[in-house]
Amino acid sequence: MGGHSILYLGRGEFAAGYLEKLKTLPVCENLAQSEQFSVPDPAGHRIDLILIEVGPALVQSGQTLPSLLNSLRLYPVVALTTREKEHRGVAAVRAGAQASICIDDTGELEQEAIFDHAIQRHRLLARLSDTDSSVLSILSSINDGVMVVDQQGHVLDINPAARSMLGLSSRILPDAEWARSFCSYTADGVERIEPDQRPLYKARTGEKFSNQTAVYKMQGQIDVVLSINGQGLYDSSRSLVGGVITFRDVTDIVRRTVELEKRAQYDDLTLLPNRRLFTRHLEKAIGRSQRNGRPIAVLFIDLDRFKSVNDTLGHDIGDQLLKQVADRLTKNLRIGDFSGRWGGDEFVVCLEDFGDSPNAAAAAQKLVLVLSEKYEIGNSEVYATPSVGIAIHPGAGDQAERLIKAADLAMYQAKKRGGNRFQYYSSSLNKKLEQHEELEIGLRHALVRNEFVLHYQPRIDVNSGRLIGLEALVRWQHPRFGLLPPARFLSILESSGLIHSTGEWIIETACRQLASWQRHFELPDLAMAINLSPQQLLHGRLVESVRQALGDTMLDPGCIEFEISDGTLVDDRSSQLETLQGLRKLGVRLSLDHFGTRDISFSSLDTGVIDSFVLDQSLIQDVEFNDSHQRIVRAAIAMARGLNIEVAAEGVETITQFEFLRSCNCDLAQGFLISRPMQAEKVSSILRSEIAGTRLLSRGMP
Ligand code: C2E
Ligand code: MG
Repeated sequence: MGGHSILYLGRGEFAAGYLEKLKTLPVCENLAQSEQFSVPDPAGHRIDLILIEVGPALVQSGQTLPSLLNSLRLYPVVALTTREKEHRGVAAVRAGAQASICIDDTGELEQEAIFDHAIQRHRLLARLSDTDSSVLSILSSINDGVMVVDQQGHVLDINPAARSMLGLSSRILPDAEWARSFCSYTADGVERIEPDQRPLYKARTGEKFSNQTAVYKMQGQIDVVLSINGQGLYDSSRSLVGGVITFRDVTDIVRRTVELEKRAQYDDLTLLPNRRLFTRHLEKAIGRSQRNGRPIAVLFIDLDRFKSVNDTLGHDIGDQLLKQVADRLTKNLRIGDFSGRWGGDEFVVCLEDFGDSPNAAAAAQKLVLVLSEKYEIGNSEVYATPSVGIAIHPGAGDQAERLIKAADLAMYQAKKRGGNRFQYYSSSLNKKLEQHEELEIGLRHALVRNEFVLHYQPRIDVNSGRLIGLEALVRWQHPRFGLLPPARFLSILESSGLIHSTGEWIIETACRQLASWQRHFELPDLAMAINLSPQQLLHGRLVESVRQALGDTMLDPGCIEFEISDGTLVDDRSSQLETLQGLRKLGVRLSLDHFGTRDISFSSLDTGVIDSFVLDQSLIQDVEFNDSHQRIVRAAIAMARGLNIEVAAEGVETITQFEFLRSCNCDLAQGFLISRPMQAEKVSSILRSEIAGTRLLSRGMP
């Protein structure tokens, strides 16, 4: 800025040396001295800057610093102090001086910068509109950081709060270079902010903004994340003269948010990326593959019979097992490959850059081997085997979701073939996938479109041959595929949660139908068995909807029997037991379905919750030829007798099977031999003949 005309107020009492030196500096073109501490004669020389010795002489002059500064407000003022009395300089700046200098440790260059700064600051403040200057004076005393720059980007003001946030000592006067790079990184601290998007630039070019988060970096200091508001400063004629920003330190908040976001993307138990994050990574990998033309493979891994580990060894061991599986996965992947936990005992892996598709198979085979090695958990040795499905991009799909579904489908195929193996996704599987998708979409509307129907299969008393009840079996009248059995859609209903609304409809319809038959044919004891999926037992609303259905139809609750899968009871989750007890309280009967196919906890049979069980058709199917099945059936029926539990057998197809069951004292039978499941109207005509005395199974009966 060149040399200035300076007026020096003071006797040089503590600054004699400084005064002498000042005279020789180029920054001082002219120096006048006054010992009076008073307003200079306006007619005298030009004055660019006034220096005031803040010391005993000033006090003795009878003037207070604020009143002196007030009388000098037409000029930029710099207060002079010694290092020992530096606080006096700070007080002077608070009272209105533009800056202060410690004469014993301010170098020549620094001093020049301070003079320039004082002159510019004074000039800017003098030009500010009344509103802006009063806003500024309020701002400078708040707890938020405040920084003022002129139009060229010189920092003219920086309040104490800002200094402490930014780790600037009160001596440091930030220069234009510092200001240019101030907050030049986005909140992640990595990406740079374009120069014209940085807060100080925006404010001094008149842009008003709020809550811009940016990172302030300073060598040797921890990064500070700031939330910044800014706007232009205007003179009384509304011309832009500079800008002001206010900011607060949000480092902790941002760090915590980042931490939370991170946690929301990882699975708590295994620390692997969760579904969402894995899918995002996969989308990126697909993008890379499309650019570099190299295929990628998605592996869908599911542990075989994980449920029985949970059931027999407990959930803690189950959890430990999943953790170890995750560990083995991560350790056995190559750099660049990545994995995730899809949910439950399902894991996903993406292999990039594996060359030919046989190499993907080799990788899958390796994982199958590694994952089926012994697991040591606490004092237990646990064995688990995986089923792995492989889908290759581009062949199996262009979208992450599609690829994962394809791999899932292939995994399912591997499982069907016995597990502990891998299976490639193929185009014939693709047809299934498409159908699966179509079914899934169709199911969402099936209920409102009235596409579900119930068929009913008669159940007879083995001894008398009398029809004692019916089992309600759901079917879906699909607009394109025709009448579908539950095997085609039940698992989708269950996994999508649609089982709850559909289940309610089934209960309601079956109850209404039974009530109508009971009344019409005067058969008050006619019973109805209704199947429940395990998911329905986890839903609190079930008991209420059963109560409602019973109330609406005024049925005797003892005529309704709910069939639950025998695995459900083993899985003694309290909410399921609670639901079962709730159902029992309503007076309905409970029955264990598919008895003999799964692990069964005998203690659960003895709790009095269960009224009957249904021997699975796989036991009955070959009972004529299979000794061990004969023994199981006999033993099961004997046990049931002891526990006062009723036994039904399903899937009875031949008279020999029926005879065998009769010889074992089985109570009830159901199967194609007696009748196939059928529509309600057909049941009506059977009931008509039944009351006329014609039995369903008269043929061949002794
Ligand atoms: P489930 O409860 O064991 O029902 C008996 C199944 O065996 C029925 O198959 C029936 O058509 C079939 N079946 C009956 N007699 C014979 C026979 O002599 N030989 C052969 N081979 N099969 C016979 P469906 O209707 O396909 O039902 C299959 C399974 O779907 C049912 O097994 C049940 O677990 C489930 N399910 C059916 N309806 C419902 C429902 O409304 N809700 C729920 N949650 N599950 C249902
Ligand atoms: Mg059943």
